[in-house]
Amino acid sequence: MKGHQPATTAPGPAGIDPATLTHEQLQGWRCALCCALLTGDRPLGTVTIGEGPTLTTYPLWACNPNCATESAWRAAITHAAGCQACRTGECETGQRLLDTYSTAIRQEHARGAG
Ligand SMILES: [Zn+2]
Ligand SMILES: [Zn+2]
Repeated sequence: MKGHQPATTAPGPAGIDPATLTHEQLQGWRCALCCALLTGDRPLGTVTIGEGPTLTTYPLWACNPNCATESAWRAAITHAAGCQACRTGECETGQRLLDTYSTAIRQEHARGAG
């Protein structure tokens, strides 16, 4: 006897619920986090999904180095945390970073809908 037998459908890495993943995400065509089409990718780990008696393990991938939204959001909050002008709402840099973030969100929603 060889090989191992996964007993249950395990929760995915990074809090991903395998049930929410699309076929394209399982095949590694789209980011498992934001559903963007992958250009560069980084491994996230694997999920195991049971379909009837069959258990299949899929490797998951995410945008590399980061999801556009994720990195835009980080840039915005990192800047705002150390910026006096942002506290009064008069910071051009802060505004630009937030705009980048909203653009990334809109693009992701557009991709998700299309
Ligand atoms: Zn992504
Ligand atoms: Zn600022």
